[in-house]
Amino acid sequence: VITAGGAASLLIAALAGAFLAGRALVPIQKAWEKQQRFVSDASHELRTPLSVLQLHLERLFRHPERTIEQESGKIAVMLGETERMSRLVADLLTLARSDSNQLQLLKRRVELPALIRKVSGPFRDLAGTKGLELMLDLAPDETLTVEGDEERLVQLFVNVLDNAVKYTREGTIAVSCHPRGDNVLIDVRDTGIGISKEDLPHIFDRFFRADKARTRSEGGTGLGLAISKWIVEQHGGTIRADSEPDQGTVVHIVLPRK
Ligand code: ADP
Repeated sequence: VITAGGAASLLIAALAGAFLAGRALVPIQKAWEKQQRFVSDASHELRTPLSVLQLHLERLFRHPERTIEQESGKIAVMLGETERMSRLVADLLTLARSDSNQLQLLKRRVELPALIRKVSGPFRDLAGTKGLELMLDLAPDETLTVEGDEERLVQLFVNVLDNAVKYTREGTIAVSCHPRGDNVLIDVRDTGIGISKEDLPHIFDRFFRADKARTRSEGGTGLGLAISKWIVEQHGGTIRADSEPDQGTVVHIVLPRK
């Protein structure tokens, strides 16, 4: 026998249960939506180079009499698009694996100044070809060790330095690495095109590019900083950027010292 009072309590319990279940589902729903967006953005990004490839291949097919030399322009474009797709797929794999916790970090003692010096070498040459100067201001190696995954830390500095060189037309790129308390502070400063106030909060989002056309022609995937953020967080650190359009950008990275 259910009394009126009992029925009311049952109803309240059922409503409360449904409400709590609904609330519990919100994070799952959000994660699902994020995953859906990731897949659709990734497909969209892959479609562009594929369309370019298809277009050029069709044109080549229409003129079998032409030599490779005559068509070298189209072939160069196709090679560029293939390289872009390879980079994109590698970045997508990194993020997909990080989402499903399949990426294990292999942490050991890493001397950060030495690592930054090593990574900077090729970027100094690249900067030189654009007439840019790359300057290093690094504390002595032994003073700045972190517990880290060397390969991932290399990937982090490659991404940030690559952006600094890509988005700077003239001036300098300055990298500093110094201790502060229990942390290591790394700043990568450039005198480049900068980032607007509206765009700045989004640069660590997946697929975000301030100027789609320009960054695409620079070969960017819009995933570099999202991956960088993930790497820094896996090391218990933080990454943020300050920027002034037409003045330049500073990326600040903080990592805990060993
Ligand atoms: P991308 O592969 O397009 O460079 P990232 O994730 O590395 O992607 O960066 C996201 C966006 O942030 C870039 O497309 C660019 O618009 C902006 N950005 C990143 N670093 C800089 C920088 N040093 N100077 C100016 N803009 C930058």
